[in-house]
Amino acid sequence: MAAFKMENVEDLYEIGDLLGSGHFGQVREVREKASGSRWAGKFLKVQKNEGNHMGLDSRRVKKEVEILQALQHDNIMALKDVFESGAELVLIMELISGGELFDFVAEKENLLESEAIEFIKQILHGVGYMHSKHITHFDLKPENIMLSDKDAPIPQIKIIDFGLAHRLTQGEEYRSQCGTPQYIAPEVISYEPLSPATDMWSIGVITYILLSGMSPFQGDSDEETLKNIVGMNYEFEERYFPDTSEAAKDFIQKLLVKDQNMRMTAEEGILHPWIKPFSRGHATDRKRSSINMKNFKKFNARRKWKLSCNMVWMCNRLNNLQLLRQTAVPMNVEKEKSHRDQEDKQTNT
Ligand code: ATP
Repeated sequence: MAAFKMENVEDLYEIGDLLGSGHFGQVREVREKASGSRWAGKFLKVQKNEGNHMGLDSRRVKKEVEILQALQHDNIMALKDVFESGAELVLIMELISGGELFDFVAEKENLLESEAIEFIKQILHGVGYMHSKHITHFDLKPENIMLSDKDAPIPQIKIIDFGLAHRLTQGEEYRSQCGTPQYIAPEVISYEPLSPATDMWSIGVITYILLSGMSPFQGDSDEETLKNIVGMNYEFEERYFPDTSEAAKDFIQKLLVKDQNMRMTAEEGILHPWIKPFSRGHATDRKRSSINMKNFKKFNARRKWKLSCNMVWMCNRLNNLQLLRQTAVPMNVEKEKSHRDQEDKQTNT
């Protein structure tokens, strides 16, 4: 069981600017007073007693902490410490200052497939590592793929937010209907047992979007999106993939496979010819093909707008009450904002 420090976090750290908000709390830059080093602090409100649905079930945070403690990899956000004080848990995490991968890409004039591959490869390495430890993320989406330093020649990917992650034990059947409609696999919708392959589906969706600026299953409503996923209703429309290599499409097709057992694993993905070319022809194709930047910029602008409207939910409407009882009750961030948010509002107005 994770050891939580009982000291007041503010005795040891100076609390700085807001970096981001999630459904259950906020992430702020913090500075360790003793060393002067900078970190990210995730401040989570937890339920003080059972039956009180305001806040996050502390067991869920403990699960997230235990999972993060088991993971040490260059492409996965590191956890330093955890503080518990009253109804607040504070995770002190590696500060990731390069922002989201998709925002970084959207700022570029153009991007070659070979550059996109460098990012997908790192995601595969991070995910492959967690799968080797029998840990699955279950919430891979653009918001959870960040960069440590966007000015580096090849920025380093950092996978964040292990709030839905789970350690699969042998013989266990784990089901969940949490996730964001666009990125969830068919087995999530049909409430079948999940597996590491569930993460691989999401990598397929992320790659499809990165190359085309289109979301493969996006419908006009969440219901339609889910229907498209279950019906495997997607294609590579020429107008959205004008300069995409065949190897890239093959990589995506091997991930967007309905049967989990037939889906490409992270290890296999790293060895796929799109990622690791085994002929000069493949290598040249990667440099010749580029991503659909105009469309990608549009996609990213829409995504950011939706996020700012708080329209993307961690737990979609598929969530039934039984599931909510097992994990935590998601609630409107607005209701849960702490006094720190109030301060932000005051300084912003
Ligand atoms: P969600 O409701 O999506 O589960 P959450 O409450 O679990 O969110 P995170 O997704 O972990 O919180 O973080 C919220 C936001 O804070 C992220 O989208 C990101 O912008 C920012 N953030 C998280 N971790 C870090 C970090 N280590 N360094 C810098 N920024 C971070």
